[in-house]
Amino acid sequence: MSGASAIAQERGGGRRPDRPVPTKPFRIIGNIYYVGQTDNSRPGTDDAAYLISTSQGLILLDTGEEDTVPQIDENIKRLGFKIQDIKFILNSHAHSDHVAGDARMKELSGARLLSMAQDAPVIESGGKEDFNPARGNYRAAKVDRIIHDGEKIQLGATTMVAHLTAGHTKGCTSWTTVVEDGDKKYNTLFLCSDRITPKVPLINNERYPTIAEDFRKTYKTLRSLPVEVFLGAHGNFLGLVEKAKRLKQGASPNPFIDPKAYRDEIDSAERDFLAELEKQGGTP
Ligand SMILES: [Zn+2]
Repeated sequence: MSGASAIAQERGGGRRPDRPVPTKPFRIIGNIYYVGQTDNSRPGTDDAAYLISTSQGLILLDTGEEDTVPQIDENIKRLGFKIQDIKFILNSHAHSDHVAGDARMKELSGARLLSMAQDAPVIESGGKEDFNPARGNYRAAKVDRIIHDGEKIQLGATTMVAHLTAGHTKGCTSWTTVVEDGDKKYNTLFLCSDRITPKVPLINNERYPTIAEDFRKTYKTLRSLPVEVFLGAHGNFLGLVEKAKRLKQGASPNPFIDPKAYRDEIDSAERDFLAELEKQGGTP
């Protein structure tokens, strides 16, 4: 049996049956590794997951869908790490393609789950508390520690800073850290999502009255952060597959050092937001 069919079988439930097996995990830069999915040919097949190694254990950012967890586990092993060494599970935002695996990942790793305050009720209700009723439900996970905007998570010599960049979800969190690679240090950002969701009301949204205001604040916050290495919750935000290929071919400087791609992503997302706001009768 090929690896693909083994995983297809394990997924069960008939959800996203065409979801491909991720390609090999790889070191992005310094102590940051990619352990998520890497097919960006179709939407929903490039859910990112990042592993950060420190002298005191591992940090995992995002867990994908519940059935992505065995793939992430396998990727962690292939890099020579152990899932049991994960100390903290962090999330970008409470949508199923990033947090539905939290419960299973907690069981396998014994790690503590951290969540931005505004997203925690969504994760703890398995998606039922989402302001957008169209979002699917998943297995709920208990949040072990609530965090807030600006809070720092320290493990070994690594500090991860949580930035509330709300709008896509109420607790959407972009994480920053400084990565050391060779004798250089780089400001690094893991973008939550700065994208509007189709059909979600941006004005008179009873379940999320401040959504438009939050998006505006988010673009401002993102522009204020110094970013050299640009990473994000979906590979397509940053052209991950193409950059991984160039990295493997020995490209120098590291293709993930790409401040322009970061600015372009914010500009493009903000344009879409303003156009949709105007379409819905708001003032851009
Ligand atoms: Zn999302």
